[in-house]
Amino acid sequence: IRVTNNLEAFWMPFTANRQFKSNPRMFVAAKDMHYTTADGRQVLDGTAGLWCCNAGHGRPKITEAIQKQAAELDYAPAFQMGHPAAFELASRLVQLTPQGIDHVFFANSGSEAVDSALKIALAYHRARGEGQRFRLIGRERGYHGVGFGGISVGGIVSNRKMFGTLLTGVDHIRHTHDLTRNAFSRGLPEHGAEYAEDLERVIALHDPSTIAAVIIEPIAGSTGVLLPPKGYLERIRAICDKHGILLIFDEVITGFGRLGAPFAADYFGVTPDMMTVAKGITSGVIPMGAVFAKKEIYDAFMTGPEHLIELFHGYTYSANPVACAAALGTLDTYAEEGLLTRAADLASYWEDAVHSLKGLPHVIDIRNLGLIGAIELEPIAGQPTKRAFSAFLKAYEKGLLIRTTGDIIALSPPLIISKAQIDELVTTLGDVLKTLD
Ligand code: PMP
Repeated sequence: IRVTNNLEAFWMPFTANRQFKSNPRMFVAAKDMHYTTADGRQVLDGTAGLWCCNAGHGRPKITEAIQKQAAELDYAPAFQMGHPAAFELASRLVQLTPQGIDHVFFANSGSEAVDSALKIALAYHRARGEGQRFRLIGRERGYHGVGFGGISVGGIVSNRKMFGTLLTGVDHIRHTHDLTRNAFSRGLPEHGAEYAEDLERVIALHDPSTIAAVIIEPIAGSTGVLLPPKGYLERIRAICDKHGILLIFDEVITGFGRLGAPFAADYFGVTPDMMTVAKGITSGVIPMGAVFAKKEIYDAFMTGPEHLIELFHGYTYSANPVACAAALGTLDTYAEEGLLTRAADLASYWEDAVHSLKGLPHVIDIRNLGLIGAIELEPIAGQPTKRAFSAFLKAYEKGLLIRTTGDIIALSPPLIISKAQIDELVTTLGDVLKTLD
């Protein structure tokens, strides 16, 4: 396989990669649970790419659907024309969404889905004749992509400090991660539902009738798999209802089977007003994102004092035919292999497997739910992220791909993983942890 010598032109997104530019780690192929490196090694995928390849890699239903669609109808201008795959996909998706959430708006990434949902929320109240509610509420340690909307409502200060002007009128509630009370608990944390009351504190900072929406990840994935305490999401829902504030679940990571149900909303039995998805919608193969919304939100634009025509929003590639075909192939694969509920069958095996790492050096917490997990490491004093990043490099050398964020190792394998591969994953990771400085 030819690897170009010009390593300068490609601007790799993250610092951790840029450091290795003189000798980049490169994947050249992928099949099912494994990547192949440029030097021909097999690497077990412990992260489903970047939390996205839920069906595994190189799945025939997906690649064939893409090839067929590209040859048949490659593009249809989304602002003027529909095409069959878009209607079919939207119809299939709303069969999976929680009851009452039955409209789909297509975008091309999680960041775009988040921006779209925030804009829809702002416009919704106005379309209902409620005036302009303009405030938004996010959560500390929330990650909602890298658009201006996403970094504004996101709760990672370092992701936004370089960028000057952000959305105005955004507040953040506290995150719920509390190792003093919940360390090493299995599944959902027992303690901390009362953190939801922080939403009342933030709402009280302003006139509640100026607040349009609250956006949270049911599980904060990118900042280290922070699980909601039992009862927390229910309380968030109740507080939003009390004040007429829309609730948006960002399900870019939790959507499409990660927890053993189609969406976290199903798993937790809490229905938001809108959901944002991406990643697993095409199993990571082709960029696509979407907003799922309740009918009343859609209807507000069609019947409100300011008609839909006032809501100019959409992307050149919204509902791109090839992306829709990829998503349909993905849904077929999920359905035929029962992947949207497979994590439920594997959850207890997975829980035991990841918790078997308890007691290894530097491990200060282990978390799990469905087929997601996290190993939190004690940071090296004055050198945050160093220990986990070293684990990442060592795991890669031993043939395992993990993701690290801060000093937390995040695990989210493709939903096709076998029990033997779960064993292999934790054995390799255990070997890595034993050798960390
Ligand atoms: N929201 C969440 C919860 C995410 O995890 C991500 C990506 N990790 C995004 C939004 C942004 O998605 P994208 O990178 O596709 O823009």
